[in-house]
Amino acid sequence: MELCDYTIHELHEMMKRREITSRQITESVLSRIDQVESRIRAYITVLREEALEQAGTIDQKLQKGEIPLTPLTGIPIAVKDLICTRGVLTTCAAKILHNFIPPYDATVIARLKQQNIVMVGKTNLDQFGMGSSTENSYYGITRNPWDLSRVPGGSSGGSAAAVIAGEAIGALGTDTGGSIRQPSSFCSTTGLKPTYGRVSRYGLIAYASSLDQIGPIAKDVTDCAILLNAIAGYDPKDSTSVNLPTPDYTRALVPDITGLKIGIPEEYFIAGMDGEVEEKIWEAVRVLEKLGASSEKVSLPHTEYAVAAYYIIAPAEASSNLARYDGVKYGYRADKYTDLIDMYMTTRSQGFTPEVKRRIMLGTYSLSSGYYDAYYLKAQKVRTLIKRDFEEAFKKYDVLIAPVSPTPAFKIGEKTEDPLQMYLSDIFTIPINLAGVTALSIPCGFTRDGLPIGLQIIGKHFGEETILKVAYAFEQNTEHHKKKPPL
Ligand code: GLN
Repeated sequence: MELCDYTIHELHEMMKRREITSRQITESVLSRIDQVESRIRAYITVLREEALEQAGTIDQKLQKGEIPLTPLTGIPIAVKDLICTRGVLTTCAAKILHNFIPPYDATVIARLKQQNIVMVGKTNLDQFGMGSSTENSYYGITRNPWDLSRVPGGSSGGSAAAVIAGEAIGALGTDTGGSIRQPSSFCSTTGLKPTYGRVSRYGLIAYASSLDQIGPIAKDVTDCAILLNAIAGYDPKDSTSVNLPTPDYTRALVPDITGLKIGIPEEYFIAGMDGEVEEKIWEAVRVLEKLGASSEKVSLPHTEYAVAAYYIIAPAEASSNLARYDGVKYGYRADKYTDLIDMYMTTRSQGFTPEVKRRIMLGTYSLSSGYYDAYYLKAQKVRTLIKRDFEEAFKKYDVLIAPVSPTPAFKIGEKTEDPLQMYLSDIFTIPINLAGVTALSIPCGFTRDGLPIGLQIIGKHFGEETILKVAYAFEQNTEHHKKKPPL
């Protein structure tokens, strides 16, 4: 096993014992990138020189006792290219931001830097987070490390692929309708979408502001908790961040779930769903029952309206958020135009892909007068009903257990011609964002063809400790998270 194959907490222990340096871990990660990146293409930008230099400085400072050795100190981390990093190209995988170098760090980046992480690079995604396969990128398609003919999921596909391939030790992703959990499920990583308001969105380039959250993508539950510890917490720079104390999430990691009440939403087992996925989810439930939990079916009656409501609300917010890309102050500007209006139009028609344009048009339509009440307002009402479904369920159950995605990773190109098919792949993740609650994906097995399957553990608002605890108990009694793709 190479250093790049270890977890954050294992490497931290080795650093504590002074067996290894940050420079050695970073070199191992970079050499893995050299070996596999031409096949996987998880990154838009690799910060080779910068990472080595940072690691060297961190080692020196550690030796002189100038900085503390926190659980993340010296650990190579990858960041989804939707998150602003000062002085480092941040493209959102879009032509329209192909040259954007932010003058500031997102709060999550500032917090990781406080812990002296090594930033390895910026990972690929579906432009602005719009997609479920990382095929919709100006920088090419990321491939699933378990099967290069398949997608890694999306939109944080680059982060999940990088982590499972050892091209980073951990990563940040973002989740608006499933973009942390679905790629985690497809790549066999552990990824957590925090409660809306738990993690600051300052410096996260907005897709759908009422749904977006940043969260960790990691090799196991402990690493997930360590990363969440670093990024969670109140931030006055984000008015939607919640001013509540942040627990130490690693303290929730005790594998005792005796008496835990699990609800299994029946609407999450639909016709047409992959049989092997369903099988693994029930196997996982049985593992948890053996550990002392009890389970019962529950109904979340408004689930069937979630995808429709999401594809009104998210594009509506996107149409407003993306209005700022006009070619004036930053980003791409068309070469040839006749006047100002033509400059806007040409820049935007050249700078956005068909999928982004589709969403801007959908969003503008549903917000326009005459349609606002019929679509946008109606979708917001549905959103309230979905949120209530969850609130009702959590009166009775500690967590809900469901699949992350109805299928394992699909083939590259399989769904690109049919947007509706692509949208439906988020059918089990979208309701969680609409309700604003928290959920994670944890590896729960493989298909006969060797494709990973993720288990979704859903918790109430600010229930991160509970879902981490359940995930930890599951992980400590299974081996799925230890399996690595044949590279
Ligand atoms: N696939 C969903 C979408 O395209 C969710 C993406 C995300 O969570 N960023 O909107």
